[in-house]
Amino acid sequence: MQTVLVTGGMGFIGSHTVIALHENGYEVVIADNLVNSKREVINRLYEITGKRFKFYNVDCCDKVALSEVFRENKIDSVIHFAGLKAVGESVAKPLEYYSNNINSMLTVIELMREYEVHKLVFSSSATVYGMSEDVPFTEESPLGICTNPYGWTKWMIEQILRDCAKADPSLSVVLLRYFNPVGAHESGLIGEDPQGIPNNLFPYISKVSVGTLERLTIHGDDYDTPDGTCLRDYIHVCDLAEGHVKALGFIDSNEPGVEVFNLGTGKGTSVKEAVAAFERACGHEIANVIGPRRPGDLAVCYASTDKAEKVLGFKATRDIDDMCSSCWKWQVNNPNGLQD
Ligand code: NAD
Ligand code: UDP
Repeated sequence: MQTVLVTGGMGFIGSHTVIALHENGYEVVIADNLVNSKREVINRLYEITGKRFKFYNVDCCDKVALSEVFRENKIDSVIHFAGLKAVGESVAKPLEYYSNNINSMLTVIELMREYEVHKLVFSSSATVYGMSEDVPFTEESPLGICTNPYGWTKWMIEQILRDCAKADPSLSVVLLRYFNPVGAHESGLIGEDPQGIPNNLFPYISKVSVGTLERLTIHGDDYDTPDGTCLRDYIHVCDLAEGHVKALGFIDSNEPGVEVFNLGTGKGTSVKEAVAAFERACGHEIANVIGPRRPGDLAVCYASTDKAEKVLGFKATRDIDDMCSSCWKWQVNNPNGLQD
């Protein structure tokens, strides 16, 4: 049985991926410093899977602490989710973002070399495509000028990993560029649990749906799109999780090197369509008002999924209604998120 180290495994995407890995016969070890997640996640994972996953409360930038994880476990591969991810906060706190995201990656890759672990899956983002309007984005689309430090950390880490793979012919790296992960596990026991007022659409709608926030502001309805609001490629977090299992399988059946895959659905959904879908899921209106455009927003962003389908054998199966109903179930069961 292969053992996968999941850094950031207590977070939104990581926790769903832990379940998918377990369901596909992998042993999982989690390393997370809980900077943006709760210890309670480990109990929820136990409720869902019946398995108590090994969890280390460590900062991935702390080489001494993280080396214990490699020493005590025979790690076969790493999925590196650990990182800070709030776009707006990264503009206000660039040093914290560069330091945490780059150093945690460097520490992980150094320890992988020391402990002869050759397989890595990295959480990248569609944000590396920058402000291009040339949709859909294919893996060959040029990388753009990122609009914020968060995006640059993804851009830089992709480059770092390419350089590492060039220097070490035994290293296998899959870069997964996520589009917009949303939704929650069907149990309603885990989901996205942002601190404070959310910036992203789905967490915001969810909080309006349970009355924690009064109303959604739709950031602009004068875009050149069918209903005037922006289109995004929302992908169910459980589909995304399964994409990581495919990525590990891909590494095992291919030569070392770097491969990049988009993980999306290939379909754009507008803000108004997302609101309507959530209203169907929760059975009541989501109060909203049209506001000005949000600076830096692209009108349209969606993935070309051809490469993921052909090479990885990955295709998202859950639709926007599945995303909304799971999100609603999670939110209504846990209106204040998880508490420790
Ligand atoms: P999340 O914040 O829910 O999960 C990240 C986890 O990493 C958290 O549990 C946090 O406590 C942990 N962490 C952060 N820094 C750490 C460190 N130095 N050491 C140990 N643990 C640390 O975020 P998420 O949405 O699950 O995202 C996971 C990854 O996917 C991130 O790298 C993120 O940038 C990337 N990503 C997310 C999205 C998205 O929309 N959610 C889109 C593209 C890429
Ligand atoms: N959005 C909105 N109101 C909000 C949050 C987001 O209208 O309170 C819009 C945003 O302008 C964008 C879409 O919803 O068009 C998705 O935004 P999100 O931040 O979730 O994803 P991103 O734009 O980073 O892909």
